[in-house]
Amino acid sequence: MTATRVLVLNSGSSSVKYQLLDMRDSSRLANGLVERIGEQSSRLRHTPLATGGGSREWTGPIADHDAALKAVAEELAKDGLGLDSPELAAIGHRVVHGGKHFTEPTVIDDAVLAEIERLIPVAPLHNPANLTGIRTATALRPDLPQVAVFDTAFHTTMPEAAARYAIDVETADAHRVRRYGFHGTSHAYVSRATAKLLGKAPEEVNVIVLHLGNGASASAVEKGRCVDTSMGLTPLEGLVMGTRSGDTDPAVIFHLARVGEMSIDEIDTLLNKKSGLIGLCGDNDMREIRRRIDEGDERAKLAFDIYIHRLKKYIGAYYAVLGHVDAVAFTAGVGENAAPVREAAVAGLGSLGLAVDDELNTVRGDEPRLISPAGARVAVAVVPTDEELEIATQTYALVKR
Ligand code: ADP
Repeated sequence: MTATRVLVLNSGSSSVKYQLLDMRDSSRLANGLVERIGEQSSRLRHTPLATGGGSREWTGPIADHDAALKAVAEELAKDGLGLDSPELAAIGHRVVHGGKHFTEPTVIDDAVLAEIERLIPVAPLHNPANLTGIRTATALRPDLPQVAVFDTAFHTTMPEAAARYAIDVETADAHRVRRYGFHGTSHAYVSRATAKLLGKAPEEVNVIVLHLGNGASASAVEKGRCVDTSMGLTPLEGLVMGTRSGDTDPAVIFHLARVGEMSIDEIDTLLNKKSGLIGLCGDNDMREIRRRIDEGDERAKLAFDIYIHRLKKYIGAYYAVLGHVDAVAFTAGVGENAAPVREAAVAGLGSLGLAVDDELNTVRGDEPRLISPAGARVAVAVVPTDEELEIATQTYALVKR
């Protein structure tokens, strides 16, 4: 029997998201989520997509990632999709930080584990959780290839001019301070899907990808290769996000420390968790913000305007970086669903060839689609992202025999 299934695991510090795919036709067999690992009220939600059965939920204590993965394995086994199946070809892990080293998906061995561990200082929240997920899955199926797919890999093609901060080179290199970028799996998938939508090969087009979820990032993709992206050493840089500030003057930090007497940890929490849309107006869900704006709420309107202003600046910047742009693609929760964000982001950019057709922009759907007027110089598109499929595809390409 040929093994054609791939389990995709996205392990966070207190959660595990998973999806099981059959790579013969990229169909989803099951997906689910374990949340609040380590608490009394952990929750597992499992959806057996292959059998068409409804979701099953379970609440109770799940002590650690090991117990979480075993619970997932049990759920899968109930649908005849157990992890002991010979049809399982590999487990693909989302790994947030691959540094400069990992430019491609990589089969995990001890050396790879050690390198992911060495990167913990630049990804203190994410890489430890990813490592735990890998170790747990390896213990469960030691015979199976485990593949790491890095969020940073797609951005390793950035030229030094885009990847370096203008700070003392020795200091930067000693501490690996440079711009790595994140959401790379999504930027890779969406830029390719956009080329396909235009009927072109990825090497034939220049695309600006706007990944607008709770975390948000932009990238400039030239002929299939990333040449700039808005996130940097960490996912804090760049666009205004749900709870992150994005770009600020670094001196804001010195000022808050010296004058505001805040500790480094407090400022870290402020900029990562209490800023962005939630810091500006108390809400980080774009639906809620739009609802408040419709009711005349001034704070929500200002938060929206700041979000759009930053987005527009990045569209302009990446237009200049690329010189010629074939398409601007909106993706992720906000990008795929919030028509007013798309409309506002390109409003007034007609002289750059950018415009949105009001009617097309309000059409909803799960397929990639154009929202620019017919004959527009630059295509504006909505291209739903699919990070799990991309991780599974990259994983399977490495292990299939
Ligand atoms: P992440 O993967 O970063 O957690 P998502 O890509 O799932 O985030 O995006 C989540 C965000 O998408 C929500 O916080 C919300 O702002 C936005 N969103 C989701 N659905 C809609 C919608 N129908 N209209 C507007 N915004 C939406």
